[in-house]
Amino acid sequence: MKRFECSLKHGGMERVGIYSIEDVLPFIVENKGSPNAIRVYDGHEVKMFSLRYHTFKKSLSCVSCGLKGKFFALERYMRRVPWDNRFHFNLYAIISNGEEVLMTKDHINPKSLGGKEHIDNMQTMCKVCNELKMNRVEEKNQNEII
Ligand SMILES: [Zn+2]
Repeated sequence: MKRFECSLKHGGMERVGIYSIEDVLPFIVENKGSPNAIRVYDGHEVKMFSLRYHTFKKSLSCVSCGLKGKFFALERYMRRVPWDNRFHFNLYAIISNGEEVLMTKDHINPKSLGGKEHIDNMQTMCKVCNELKMNRVEEKNQNEII
């Protein structure tokens, strides 16, 4: 099931389509050496592996507020250099006023505090909670410096 939103510009992102969770999550592979590591969605080659996708596979919901990712949008940054400009899937939730909220991969133990780039250190968090957390970490770091 999918509906199309042709080249909709969305927060600095170019969006070509919206896909259900079932259209994307079952096709996530372990790494770039896996069979079917690239999958074609509406003519666009999409890498089907990333720590971010695996984090969403662990949970679609924000650990902090419980907001749940509802759909994937196939998007790319509008200001990226051409050789790094593939479309990728972003997970979004929808809040009561109909607004979309981006779901992010959050480091449980922040990178700035030595947290590892490993699935065990990853959790799903909505952008709103992630930004709040980042502010708290920055404050904490600053306090420790002082
Ligand atoms: Zn949240």
